[in-house]
Parts: sequence; C-alpha cells; structure tokens
Amino acid sequence: MTAAQTELARLRALSARLGEDVTRTQGAGGNTSLKADGTMWIKASGTWLAEAERCDIMVPVDVEPLREAFRDGDPRAEKATDFVLTDRNPSGLRPSIETSVHAVIDHPVVLHIHCVETIALAVRTDAREEVARRLSGIEGVDWAHVPYRRPGVPLGKAIVDAQTPGTNVHILANHGLVVSGTDVGEAEARLERVVAALRQPTSFPAPEGVGGLDALAAGSPYRPASDPIIHSLAASPWRVEIASGGPMYPDHVIFLGSQTGVLSEGRSLSDFGSSTEPPKIVVAPGRGVFLHESVDRGGELMARCLAEVAARLPEGAPLRRLTGEEVHALTNWEAEKYRQTLGRQASNG
Ligand SMILES: [Zn+2]
Repeated sequence: MTAAQTELARLRALSARLGEDVTRTQGAGGNTSLKADGTMWIKASGTWLAEAERCDIMVPVDVEPLREAFRDGDPRAEKATDFVLTDRNPSGLRPSIETSVHAVIDHPVVLHIHCVETIALAVRTDAREEVARRLSGIEGVDWAHVPYRRPGVPLGKAIVDAQTPGTNVHILANHGLVVSGTDVGEAEARLERVVAALRQPTSFPAPEGVGGLDALAAGSPYRPASDPIIHSLAASPWRVEIASGGPMYPDHVIFLGSQTGVLSEGRSLSDFGSSTEPPKIVVAPGRGVFLHESVDRGGELMARCLAEVAARLPEGAPLRRLTGEEVHALTNWEAEKYRQTLGRQASNG
C-alpha cells in the first residue's frame, strides 16, 4: 500500500466511527476528505459515513482545478462533478454537496460533522462568546467562527473569509463543526479535544403524560417516535418552543421540513394529516412526539438530533433560527434534491 492508501484506509475507519455516533453524525450528514498526491478523496453525496468501511463511499476529485474554479467563480465548482476523476470512480457517485468546504481548507485531512455539542452552541446568537469561553487555551486548537451560509459554494466563501492560515477548527454557525489536520491521527485527536471542551450537561426527561401515544395516532398518518429520547422534546414548554419555533440548521429542513406541528388541546393528528403539506414532525406538549409516515430512518435520526440539541440548550438561551429566505434556498437546490433521492434509495435497501 502507498502512504496515501494507508491514510485513506485510516480515514475510512475514522469516518465509520464518526458515522456510528448519533451525537456526531445523523444519517447522510457529515463528510470527510483526504488530499494526497493532487487528489482529494471526499465522501459521496447521499451516502452515510457509518457505511465508510462496508461500501465505497469516497469519490476522487482533481482538487487544484476545482480550487481554481472556486476562486474564479466558475459555476462548475458548486456540484464539482466535472472535477471527478471518473476513471478512478467506479461507483459513479457524485461528490458531497459540501465539497467546496473541504477544497478551501489547505490541510490534507478535513472532518466535518453535525456534532450536537457544537450545534447546541452554534445555533445561539451569542455562539462566538460561548465557544470562545470553552475553546480558549485548548492545546493545538486555532478556531474561527463562520457565519451561516448555504452549504456549497456560499459556505466555502464564508470559510475563506473567516479563516487564517493557522485555522484548524471551524465552528459553522447554525450548522456544525469542521476540524482539520496534517494527518488522520492529528485531526482525530484535535476533534476529540474540541468535542470534549464543548460538551454540555444533558437530561432527557420523559413527558409526564407518557403512554397512550398509539391511541392518539390511531387512524392518522402519524406514528409515535420509536426512540424514547425524541419524546423529551415534549417534556417542557422550553423544549416544545425549541422544537416548534422554526428550523435552526440545514439538515433539519432537508429531512424534517420547515414546519413542526404542535398538537394543542382539541386538535387531532388526523387534522395535521389532512392538511396540504402535513408537518413531518408533531409535538404533543406533555405527551410525546409523532413522526409522519413519510419520515424514514434518516428523518428519525434528525428528530433525535433535535432532541439532543434541545437537551443542551439552557432555558432562555438566545436562538438564531434560519430565515424564510435561507429555508427557501435549501429546499430549492438541485444538488440537495439529488442527495435526498439517493438517501431514500439507500434507506429502501
Ligand atoms: Zn454539514
């Protein structure tokens, strides 16, 4: 094996570990890359990091021409499909929709995860101060705060503007975490230090009125969430407010939509089901959480992500929601539709 092949094998093993931890990656979210000998190996769009050792999920991209296209404002940088080294890509998969994020960071290894410890800080209006308090003085960490932009080229540009040559940790507002390094071992060790420093206390109380959820859902296109942690979203007015006040990060919009239903007294789940655009997730305060029949495993993992984030937000924390315009930009994006289609195929076997 060449040195590059050994590193790629290490990256795949690390990717699988990151993908199997729901507090770090949910479904098709998150992506990793390795730049070696002029090639950037990047996770394929729509694939799951958790599958990194079982399937061929890494796509080879000719990185210098891609970086040049990005710098020149060439629209081909968005999908990056024109830069795939097709003769070395037998799977025919597309590179991740977040390929620009990896291309604009110079380090050979880049890890991007939707870590709930990071998201719970990155959705706050005071994220910069909250992160600074936790990351200052952490060994080997040179971090930058990146304002929210749609994943893809706009986010790549925001990273270029925010970083300095030494930056090796990027906190992406309303999105997640990027950690980079000269090799897989260094990047992983740094990621562990960052996640440990950002860790917050959690609790997942069961709603007091738990039970009878199947009866509430009977005859409607909804089912109670199967993961008990998700029901903690219904356990307090604050958590209900977090869940129902509008999406806070991109993958929530993609997999669970922009509306969360709240089942108030006197309403039934069938009322939601018969609306023209039924919400994918409905919270019944004090009772539990219901998911629409169209929600697959990836969607249920996003509901878990929201419960994990809510558990880490102290009551009254100042939240920044995605704006209507930002939500619209995510739902009308061709590259994202491709990822969802592929995600559905994957979850259907
Ligand atoms: Zn992301």
